[in-house]
Amino acid sequence: MSDKADAVIIGGGVMGCAIAYNLAKEGLKPVVIEKSDIGSEASGSNGGGVRQSARNLKEMPLAMESIRMYGHLHEELEMDVEYVQEGNLRLCTSEEELEVMRQAVENQKKVGLELKMLDRRQLLEINPHVGQKVIGASYCPTDGHAKRQGHRRCNR
Ligand SMILES: Cc1cc2nc3c(=O)[nH]c(=O)nc-3n(C[C@H](O)[C@H](O)[C@H](O)COP(=O)(O)OP(=O)(O)OC[C@H]3O[C@@H](n4cnc5c(N)ncnc54)[C@H](O)[C@@H]3O)c2cc1C
Repeated sequence: MSDKADAVIIGGGVMGCAIAYNLAKEGLKPVVIEKSDIGSEASGSNGGGVRQSARNLKEMPLAMESIRMYGHLHEELEMDVEYVQEGNLRLCTSEEELEVMRQAVENQKKVGLELKMLDRRQLLEINPHVGQKVIGASYCPTDGHAKRQGHRRCNR
């Protein structure tokens, strides 16, 4: 191995690895320095949510671009990234929560995200297992998740 690098990246989480991957694609020689194991921190213990809805509005262009990239990531990486685009529901259990959610949905629509409010009947058509207290939800059909079988998960 050469003792010279074009870039030294501290941290082998998804950010560091993605930067290294893209630099390598450009023909550069990056080195990733990881104090523990690759993907051993947040990148290896998250909920796997690949979500645009309920992001900070300033993040939305990046989140929407991520969804576009995820659609063909398995081809680019030539591996199953276990990505499924099954939508994301954000549940409401009171009129107050519904009102806040309605406003949030309108704001997200204004920056180009396609999502909608569902009443309980519409929600049950998508997920018949939601609890009795849930009276409505926002639904973004282009959200999804990238799951890792057998890996610890925390749903967000
Ligand atoms: C419980 C939980 C659930 C989450 N759920 C979701 C979700 O569903 N969807 C979603 O999009 N996001 C989710 N996230 C957020 C997402 O996981 C993080 O935004 C993302 O993984 C951050 O990646 P990163 O590379 O910046 O950081 P990390 O994955 O933390 O990587 C940083 C790396 O740097 C290394 N490091 C630190 N200091 C040094 C040093 N001095 N020298 C060498 N190496 C060092 C660490 O060991 C680590 O491996 C969740 C996060 C958590 C904690």
